[in-house]
Amino acid sequence: MTYMKKKYPIRLTPQRLAILEYLEGNKAHPSASDIYKAVSEKYPMMSFATVYNTLDTLREKMQVLELSIDSKKKRFDPNTKPHHHLICMECKAITDIHRKFALDLTDGERCDYKIMRNHIDFYGVCSNCKKKTK
Ligand code: ZN
Ligand code: MN
Repeated sequence: MTYMKKKYPIRLTPQRLAILEYLEGNKAHPSASDIYKAVSEKYPMMSFATVYNTLDTLREKMQVLELSIDSKKKRFDPNTKPHHHLICMECKAITDIHRKFALDLTDGERCDYKIMRNHIDFYGVCSNCKKKTK
C-alpha cells in the first residue's frame, strides 16, 4: 500500500488502486475488458463503466499508456517508461522491447523540432501463432 502510494503520485481511490494493483508488473498489455474481468473477480461491485472511466483518468494522469495497436479494443500498458513493442499480427500479443535504437533524423527532417522520444512497433507472427498456421 505504501509502495503503491510512493509509486503513484495521484489520489488513490479504491477503484484506481484496484486497477493499478492488477496492472502492477503486468506485461500482457491487457484490454479494458481483460482488466474488468480480473478486477471484478476481486471487487464484484465494480462495473465495466467504472473500470473504463478509471482507466481513462489514469491515462490522463499519465499513470498508464493507452495503446492503439488494435483498432477494435484499446490496450493498456502500466509501463510508462520509454520502450518499444513487438506485436503479433495474428493474436495481437504485445511484447516489450527494452533497447535504445539510435534513430536520428536529418536536420531537414527534424523541421526544427526538439525530439523528445520515439516509439517503434515491430510486427510479426509469434511462435504460438506460427505453430497454428503450419
Ligand atoms: Zn500470436
Ligand atoms: Mn509495453
